[in-house]
Amino acid sequence: MLTNFNDMLQLARKNHCAIPHFNINNLEFTKFILEKCQELNVPVILGVSINAAQYMGGWSVPVAFTKALIRELNLTIPICLHVDHGTKEECLKAITAGFTSVMIDSSSLSLQDNIQITKELVNYAHQYNVSVEGEIGEIKECYKGNFPTNLNECLKYYEETKVDALAPAIGNAHGIYHKNPTLNFNLIEELSVRINIPLVLHGASGISSENLKKLIKLGITKININTDLLLAWNNGLREFIKTNKDVYDPRQIISSGKQNVQEKIAELIETFETKSVT
Ligand SMILES: [Zn+2]
Repeated sequence: MLTNFNDMLQLARKNHCAIPHFNINNLEFTKFILEKCQELNVPVILGVSINAAQYMGGWSVPVAFTKALIRELNLTIPICLHVDHGTKEECLKAITAGFTSVMIDSSSLSLQDNIQITKELVNYAHQYNVSVEGEIGEIKECYKGNFPTNLNECLKYYEETKVDALAPAIGNAHGIYHKNPTLNFNLIEELSVRINIPLVLHGASGISSENLKKLIKLGITKININTDLLLAWNNGLREFIKTNKDVYDPRQIISSGKQNVQEKIAELIETFETKSVT
């Protein structure tokens, strides 16, 4: 069932667990992820970046194949198809194409401009029952406690935009961490006391499971994973190619990373303590 993320994230908030957001880049990754989440009977958010949508041919392509997989594989878990780091223009296109959720990233703009653009998108998206995640403070690694946003800015952003989920920058970053990130745990704790909305962690690949568990306890309910699955797939693929030099069937080559990807998914879901759908 294709749905927005509101029910799954509110339930996760109540149960002090997190819902995984896994980025997809093609049909195969989507199938690996959905099969494993169905087996574990947990809800999942599939994230599609602007680049990934372009790579696949446009926003309607992942909508079409995700719906087809739900039908063909008899999937019963709640599945949210979500734009990852969209512009307003791209989010509008994705909503028209059938996405059930969007993330607007105008965090590099001034707070006032970020609020304005986010508010416009929220007003539009909510007419179509599409959930909206907003970002405040640019998500990139930072050190020495010099965090890119603070409680007052986050509260103002939330009050004025009424986003359904908030991704505050807390010293997290995308890609591979080259040293342990310094994370602003206090901001998550204060925010989850002050406002009743799901909080989102980006760039979770490479953050220790202890810190992930701590953040979930403090109020993080959506955790974005991209790099971890890509690395897992790469490991399986490189190993396969090394020992199967004569294989040229793309189905075998692409699927050679499947087991690693699905093992990583299971490990993350255990860390997030994602509750089964009853
Ligand atoms: Zn992100």
